[in-house]
Amino acid sequence: ANAGLVVCFGEMLIDFVPTVAGVSLAEAPGFVKAPGGAPANVAIAVSRLGGEAAFIGKLGDDEFGNMLAAILKQNGVAADGLTFDKGARTALAFVTLRADGEREFMFYRNPSADMLLTPEELNLELIRSAKVFHYGSISLIVEPCRSAHLKAMEVAKQAGALLSYDPNLRLPLWPSASEAREQIMSIWDKAEVIKVSDNELEFLTGNENIDDAAAMSLWHPNLMLLLVTLGENGCRYYTKNFHGSVNAFRVNTVDTTGAGDSFVGALLCKIVDDHSLLKDEAKLREALKFANACGAITTTKKGAIPALPTESEALSLINK
Ligand code: ADP
Repeated sequence: ANAGLVVCFGEMLIDFVPTVAGVSLAEAPGFVKAPGGAPANVAIAVSRLGGEAAFIGKLGDDEFGNMLAAILKQNGVAADGLTFDKGARTALAFVTLRADGEREFMFYRNPSADMLLTPEELNLELIRSAKVFHYGSISLIVEPCRSAHLKAMEVAKQAGALLSYDPNLRLPLWPSASEAREQIMSIWDKAEVIKVSDNELEFLTGNENIDDAAAMSLWHPNLMLLLVTLGENGCRYYTKNFHGSVNAFRVNTVDTTGAGDSFVGALLCKIVDDHSLLKDEAKLREALKFANACGAITTTKKGAIPALPTESEALSLINK
């Protein structure tokens, strides 16, 4: 395949996850480190599938920052867009799913290094060499990272990259729900490919009925492909000319963390290989089947990065 570079922009951090299931953060006897951050996961997903990927973001010049930079390197993701802040520390999150089903989050961000990336620090040459520019995290919340985010999008677009967006809504991160909606919608009409989850669709439309009409109410003229992921029910796709759904694979799910990022990474690999799938329903359905397989495999192991599949793992699930 004559692939091209996928550049992913945004946050990379470490989630601390309790060593036992179903406890509150205060009750946790200990934590394990789970490196992540949606755009970084997508970059690693692309690389593990054999694609070419780079990550742009900022880390603290500390133990955790060095650990994350090493993970990118080990996974073959180009790190020439990575910068280190001299003062602020790497972003950390403590995350748990309590026995009552509620998620609890606690963040180290006051501010963390990822939010301090400036427009001047962007590696513009790297951005201009992207075939696909993918973004989507809380880097819109505060300056200077917000300006860096907007500039990177602009430069990528001018250089002819396809823009891909996943809002990755994690409400506790935003000051308020209305601000989250406003910030997401402020860049909504820029991307050519957008992936949302069913929950995000509900949140963004304010409509509990997440049907085709709800999805189409988010359509904009630059958009070529809108995807709605539905967990164990697969995904729905919308283009200007056709829409439909593709079923999920049945697997032994143990942890869904990273499934959406795995899905996006897989799809972007396919798009970089063959742009025409955005206009060809049969090819698009093939690509989404592959993306569903990658998402499914990612749910069969704990954590996000360790659970991202290779191409041969994905193909063996498809051909089973
Ligand atoms: P997000 O992580 O963005 O919420 P989803 O949880 O919907 O996204 O997962 C993305 C994709 O991963 C789904 O469209 C589906 O193909 C696959 N997937 C997720 N959960 C499961 C599951 N329990 N069984 C099989 N496939 C799954």
